[in-house]
Amino acid sequence: MNVERLFCIGKNYAEHVAELAHLGHQADGECVVFMKPASAVVPEGEPIVLPRGRGSIHHEAELVVLLTGGGRDIPVEEALDCVAGLTLGLDLTLRDLQTQLKSKGKPWEIAKAFDGAAPLGDFKPFLNQDLQALEFSCHVNGKLRQRGYTRDMLYSVARQIHILSQTWALLPGDAIYTGTPAGVGPLEPGDTVVLEGPGLGRYQWRCA
Ligand code: ZN
Repeated sequence: MNVERLFCIGKNYAEHVAELAHLGHQADGECVVFMKPASAVVPEGEPIVLPRGRGSIHHEAELVVLLTGGGRDIPVEEALDCVAGLTLGLDLTLRDLQTQLKSKGKPWEIAKAFDGAAPLGDFKPFLNQDLQALEFSCHVNGKLRQRGYTRDMLYSVARQIHILSQTWALLPGDAIYTGTPAGVGPLEPGDTVVLEGPGLGRYQWRCA
């Protein structure tokens, strides 16, 4: 199944929300929803071409779920029936630009949805494992930057699907970036990023 739409959930791990507080990003206990175009996807093996001259570019390592569809107004209790696959991905963020735009009350689309902003691993079939008991890590040049435990999510994957389905009829090929744990930081040309997690795979990209 090809990925058609990328939904992203922001502010879904308390420690990550806290680490951005000094930039004036509000912690109000609510997640945010945004989208990236499918054209932002960078499959494993292709270089991540970092935008130049636009300030810092942060990695956000995330569990990504692929949906079979499901339509509108999906109850939380039925939401996981819509999950087809699991993988890991990076929600790349032009952090300085995002912070500037936020401070002016402007949409921060261009800080999140640029070409190459969505490195994405191959989806593994969803085998009904507990999605709130997964673990994953992000290493940059061999150094641990992020370690995520999905039990720490403020909004479970099922709730995310429910919330999205109140606005969009969910379709086959929709995918959700489910939010990032603490430890986000800058990427530079030449960096190697590795995402891995038990049952989720291991994916590597080089930044150019
Ligand atoms: Zn994110």
